[in-house]
Amino acid sequence: MMNRAGLDQLQLGNRFGQLPEALYSPVTPQPLKNPFLVAFSTDAAALIGLDPCQASAQQLSEYFGGHRLLPGSEPLASVYSGHQFGGYTAQLGDGRAALLGDLPGADGQRWELQLKGSGKTPFSRHADGRAALRSVIREYLASEALAALGVPTTRALCIIGSETQIYRESIEFAASMVRLSPSHIRFGHFEYFYYTRQPEQLKQLADFVIEHHYPHCYVSENPYLALYSEVVERTAKLIARWQVLGFCHGVMNTDNMSILGLTLDYGPFGFLNEYQPAYICNRSDEHGRYAYQQQPSVAMWNCVCLAQSLSGLVKKTDLERALNRFEPVYAVAYTEQMKLRLGMDDKTLQDGDLIETFLQLLQQTKADYNDAFLALQQWVIGDPEPITTLLGESEPVADWLQRYRTRIGANAAELMSQYNPRIVLRSYLAQQVIERAEQGDFNDLAQLHAALREPYKAHLEIYSQGSSDSGKNVSLSCSS
Ligand code: AMP
Ligand code: MG
Repeated sequence: MMNRAGLDQLQLGNRFGQLPEALYSPVTPQPLKNPFLVAFSTDAAALIGLDPCQASAQQLSEYFGGHRLLPGSEPLASVYSGHQFGGYTAQLGDGRAALLGDLPGADGQRWELQLKGSGKTPFSRHADGRAALRSVIREYLASEALAALGVPTTRALCIIGSETQIYRESIEFAASMVRLSPSHIRFGHFEYFYYTRQPEQLKQLADFVIEHHYPHCYVSENPYLALYSEVVERTAKLIARWQVLGFCHGVMNTDNMSILGLTLDYGPFGFLNEYQPAYICNRSDEHGRYAYQQQPSVAMWNCVCLAQSLSGLVKKTDLERALNRFEPVYAVAYTEQMKLRLGMDDKTLQDGDLIETFLQLLQQTKADYNDAFLALQQWVIGDPEPITTLLGESEPVADWLQRYRTRIGANAAELMSQYNPRIVLRSYLAQQVIERAEQGDFNDLAQLHAALREPYKAHLEIYSQGSSDSGKNVSLSCSS
């Protein structure tokens, strides 16, 4: 247990500064006008040993509203590139974020603090370097919610609001958010060095990632191959988690893919309401490249892009072999977790057919995806009403339930209560608290955050689809 420090005592290092200079530029966060604290995650604070009682709203607003720098902080913005909607964009980068530095965490690893919405950087292109309050609230809630569900993700420490005006579809107020992650390095960082033909820098980047995040890869015959294999496996497992929860990222460009296999860059994400595999949560994604059902294959496509970037360090046939692990790793992780949601922990049974038919029934009846698991849980403990309301009483439903009954054990209800969240961050829930926050009331935001922190808690009110989403899947604009 590490000693907990106050905000003033946090001492930042600058590990990213060891990387080739071509990868970043020093930046100065630009002050937000009259900053104030909107939200603070004590769970995220614990990760970096920050004592919430020694982090006043005023201090947080000053430090993370761009008015002061933490001791040791040498902020920088990093360049990267990436494949956006399938096409290569040569130069992207931290267009509205500053990496403040890194510090040792309670878990022994170092955590980076990144300030999102901190103003223009050399990589802002024509944009303003700011983030709208609504978009950081969505990222904050989603990161903390996915973390509580056990899904690998970047974290969110706090949100700072302000009176700085920004121009989106209408005039809005700018806000900032402190994002925490062991690393913010993306597939796109590797692509940047590959496509700008800087093999030496690319190797240094790979060495840096191995040294700090995959040190065990050094003992392998080819550490770069070991690194790639692990990234592929972590990515496959991450996407399995998303699919099982009905989470749709919305913008799976390679610049939004974490080299640590974390959920990164929350934009127009969404959770499934009615089970609709073709659901597209991003309004700009006209062709459904990033539709819910596409996520596993597009993640694999992104891993191909990463392989291409590593082709100077690893033989093509080795990269292909590592990539071929994606599908089996994904399939095993997906089936295992779906079975747990269905209350089945017998690993010797495949149960793929049972899962498949269940999903077909959900699709035919347009049932709410996450509600269906909770309804089934009720059925297991002897209350048939919720599942009947959702799926009806047709013969295929009755047949499936009968078959399902023979596959579950005595511990099914217990398992289901551990794996079926009573709340997921549906768009209408986020929207409600955003509207309140935009009026200066942050209580509902804190309450929703509190519920999302403990999604499996037995006496948590069930937050189902029944409200303003009206059960339909919505799509959101990319503007943020
Ligand atoms: P995203 O779609 O949020 O992943 O952003 C794609 C790229 O655009 C990244 O390089 C971002 O840093 C950049 N970007 C997005 N919004 C802004 C903004 N308001 N100001 C500057 N850069 C931005
Ligand atoms: Mg991004």
